[in-house]
Amino acid sequence: MSKVNWMDEVTKRKDDFIKDLQGLLQIKSVLDEEKATANAPLGQGIKDALQYMLDLGEKDGFTSKNVGNLAGHLEMGQGDELIGVLGHVDVVPEGDGWSMDPYGGIVKDGKIYARGSSDDKGPTIAAYYGMKIVKELGLPINKRVRLIIGTDEESDWRCVDHYFEHEEMPTTGFVPDADFPIIFAEKGIADFDIVQSPTAEQRTSIYELLSFESGRRYNMVPDHAKVEIKVQDEQVNIIQDFLAYLTQEKLEGDAIADNDMFILTLVGKSAHGAEPRNGINAGIYMARFLQNLDLDDAGKTYVTTVAEFNEKSRGEVFGIAYEDEDSGDLTINVGVMTYDQKNGGRIGLNMRYPVTFNIEDGKSKISSVLEEKGLMLDKYSDSKPTYVKKDDPLIKTLQKVYEEQTGEKADLLAIGGGTYARALDHGVAFGALFPGREDVMHQKDEYAIVDDLLLATAIYAQAIYELAK
Ligand SMILES: [Zn+2]
Repeated sequence: MSKVNWMDEVTKRKDDFIKDLQGLLQIKSVLDEEKATANAPLGQGIKDALQYMLDLGEKDGFTSKNVGNLAGHLEMGQGDELIGVLGHVDVVPEGDGWSMDPYGGIVKDGKIYARGSSDDKGPTIAAYYGMKIVKELGLPINKRVRLIIGTDEESDWRCVDHYFEHEEMPTTGFVPDADFPIIFAEKGIADFDIVQSPTAEQRTSIYELLSFESGRRYNMVPDHAKVEIKVQDEQVNIIQDFLAYLTQEKLEGDAIADNDMFILTLVGKSAHGAEPRNGINAGIYMARFLQNLDLDDAGKTYVTTVAEFNEKSRGEVFGIAYEDEDSGDLTINVGVMTYDQKNGGRIGLNMRYPVTFNIEDGKSKISSVLEEKGLMLDKYSDSKPTYVKKDDPLIKTLQKVYEEQTGEKADLLAIGGGTYARALDHGVAFGALFPGREDVMHQKDEYAIVDDLLLATAIYAQAIYELAK
């Protein structure tokens, strides 16, 4: 059989590609639980986007299936093995500040603008056209290929949870919802709380910690902390000391007196929790200041526990520091801190662990370290790492295809973040953002470069063929 020129096949279909993508982009598929119905559990927009894809596939001759109005698939081919390609058609809200219609899909200067153009409607349509080209060329394949369409990627993944409860897990596959070339390793991600139960005070101290608050999200370095402190001795004024501490640490913040209470605020620097070293944790810096005061015992325990994480973002606090060659360091971000005298304290942590880390051992070490300190582990939840070995046939095939289509080397990436590829037992994130391109996902004026989407389509077409032949 003569060699297929994949890019030519894509170019022939360019007008249809843009038209079909625009149709999808024009559906405002934002989660809307207030308007949820039995037939549209995530809201009508999301339902319409899913239906749009199923209709498109049916029109083009694919077998389609709606799975609980939360996900669906389009399938072609025959055979025992199943190649899965997983994309999503829900989008985050458009937000403010757009210079054009966020649901217009307008093409201007080679870019197509809309919420979802790069995350993930553009890449999903690219994958769809990849499959369509293989089908229309009538190429011989001996496996089934399924484009699985999720609708809740941006929120709670109810789409893939439901889908894989009822449908077959693909033998292997890829996910066009991140970066090219290939993300072969994603760390495990665990969220959990350290809990300090409230206790009755045993002794009199100069200061009493009334409340401590910092951070809202486990996966972000908090940039703001606020505490309320009561002072027993009216001679004592904490303000000067706190301001001096801020100056010394080159931080912003404020201290105000309110009768016998002081309110201290401190401003840090936010960063993604995957690398706590990129931020300045306002809660930890606040705790470092407080730990040197004559605080009540419960308050002291709380701030000491928080302050212990200072410059220790590698699991040292629990004796679980670990790294491996493929995925790097274990990291722990202190994301959410809350304390008050009535309820006690909580410290919400986001841990990202390397793909070869033994999480069960790690978890029991954390528990025993906390137990020794009279603290508890609570609300543990875990998303397992995803990892495909470098010499796996899937990786080898995708590398070959990427290199043939782009002329660039297909480097393998390991990340601390999580992609949709975790939903597959055996799969990797593969595109569709090319190296060096601006990442505008979730931002105002989100766009995709049309030529990039077309190149991605050629890559996906060849990849689907090579995996299924
Ligand atoms: Zn996405």
